[in-house]
Parts: sequence; structure tokens; C-alpha cells
Amino acid sequence: MLLAVHATVGAVAGNAVSSPSVALILGFLSHFFLDAIPHGDHHMYEQFSSGRKARQAFLYVGLDTLATAVIIALFFLRQDFFSPVNVAMGIIGGLLPDLLVGLYEVYKPRRRWFERKLSWFNDFHMRNHKLVISRVRRFKDDIPLRYSLILQGIALFFLMRAML
Ligand SMILES: [Zn+2]
Repeated sequence: MLLAVHATVGAVAGNAVSSPSVALILGFLSHFFLDAIPHGDHHMYEQFSSGRKARQAFLYVGLDTLATAVIIALFFLRQDFFSPVNVAMGIIGGLLPDLLVGLYEVYKPRRRWFERKLSWFNDFHMRNHKLVISRVRRFKDDIPLRYSLILQGIALFFLMRAML
């Protein structure tokens, strides 16, 4: 799922609650619900992990990160939030699982305890991605990325309208 969608849903969740810690937890949980919806990027992730077509994956993540930064900036520039702290915590919670997975992929920590925890989290995150799609034979492992991007774009439009 696009980071932009995770961040925006986290912001909406953070804006709906009155405590920063609840905002963080809601944002964090929303990540897994969103990732369980088939969203077409699983093959790209495998290509990135195996080093094949890594440039394409880097470009995709780079553009997504840029769009996410612009959306977050828009939220904080254009809106007087009930609580900017709650919205920020919602966004952090929404992005945190992918940041942890990114940390695992890039850094591959050497300290044993940390490595085991992060590796467990990485596996859990990946299993969650396939939770629904593995039950739908028609799409083999995933839906086409272009359809998913159109749907995520539409969802982003409405989510951003709810915030701005
Ligand atoms: Zn994720």
C-alpha cells in the first residue's frame, strides 16, 4: 500500500481521537488493515528484495515518499487541527510498520535480540499482505498494480478532502 495512503489514514485517525497514544495505536493498527487489502505491489517488493529491477522499485518508493511529504506538509499548512500532535502521532503510527520493515531490509541488524524481533515483525508484515489475496485464486498472488494505483488515488482524494 502507498505510504501516502498509510500517512493520510493515520492523519484522519489521529484527527478523530483526543489522545496522542490512542492516535499512535490507531494509526499503527490501520496500517495492517490497509495492507491486507490486495494492492498490487507484492511482486515489486520481491524484485526489490532479490535485487532484480531494484531501480524501478526505488523510483516507486521515492515518488511515493515525495508525495507523502507533500501531503503531510499540506495538512499542516492548510488546516488548524484540533491537535497537531494527535495528527502527527496518527501519521507516525500509520508509517511505522513500513519504516520497521525498511530498517530490517536496509540495516539487517546484527544484534541478536533486535534482529530476531525485527525479523519476526518483517515476516508478520509480509504474511499480513497476503492474508486476503492468497484466498483469491483468480489473481494468483496479487492484483495488477495499475488498478490498485487508480483505486488508491481515488481513496487518497476523498481522504484528503476529509482533512483539508
Ligand atoms: Zn506495510
